[in-house]
Amino acid sequence: MYFPQRAGQGCRNSSKIGLIKPFAPYGAVTFRPMAEGPKKSARTSDGSRLFSCRRFILLDRDGTIIVDKEYLSNPDGVELLPGAAAGLALLRQAGFGLAVVTNQSGIGRGYYSVQDMHAVNERMSALLAAAGVVLDGIYYCPHTPQDNCPCRKPRPGMALRAAAELGFTPDQAVVIGDKAADLGLAHAVGALGVLVRTGYGAAQESMLHTPPDIVADNLFDAAVRILERDGMFERGNGQ
Ligand SMILES: [Zn+2]
Repeated sequence: MYFPQRAGQGCRNSSKIGLIKPFAPYGAVTFRPMAEGPKKSARTSDGSRLFSCRRFILLDRDGTIIVDKEYLSNPDGVELLPGAAAGLALLRQAGFGLAVVTNQSGIGRGYYSVQDMHAVNERMSALLAAAGVVLDGIYYCPHTPQDNCPCRKPRPGMALRAAAELGFTPDQAVVIGDKAADLGLAHAVGALGVLVRTGYGAAQESMLHTPPDIVADNLFDAAVRILERDGMFERGNGQ
């Protein structure tokens, strides 16, 4: 399910054209950024919540942004996947907010600590920052499947918390991940679901009950397809 930006909100400014450095094999990419809305949600005088018109990308971590190394707990093992930094930079420049939502059952299983996970996240954030990408938030579920918690993907707890804290409407968001649980999350909150073929993505593609809204080779390909679908992307020869 996909909801376009509501008419009349003035959230999109199609007059500005952006340009991002080429990323093989795509060449230069030109796009029209959204006008930046208020970054936080605010409350009106009658107490109702006024959401930002800024749209968000909800990102899986392992197998989507960084190489999936099965219960990674050592920051030295963090490796960005090809296209990850460039794709996130493109989405950011187009005006999207970026939040990571990651299942970390290794904590609940006792394989590593919350501090270990934060160290891995910090290393990932540093590598992304070096490419000019800042994440708006990282949300994690520390539970095992047996805990039956409301936050483990495909359940919507992390996405709903991110929406409340960062101020966006979940059904206007885009979920990107390499597993069926990520697409399940997209379905649960009415967001656009994007499967990347990195990590387990290529293997999961043939096993999905319902096809994802978008299937992409990596995060950069996903970014281009999202902007294309939004009419914000033009395949061109920008310099
Ligand atoms: Zn949980």
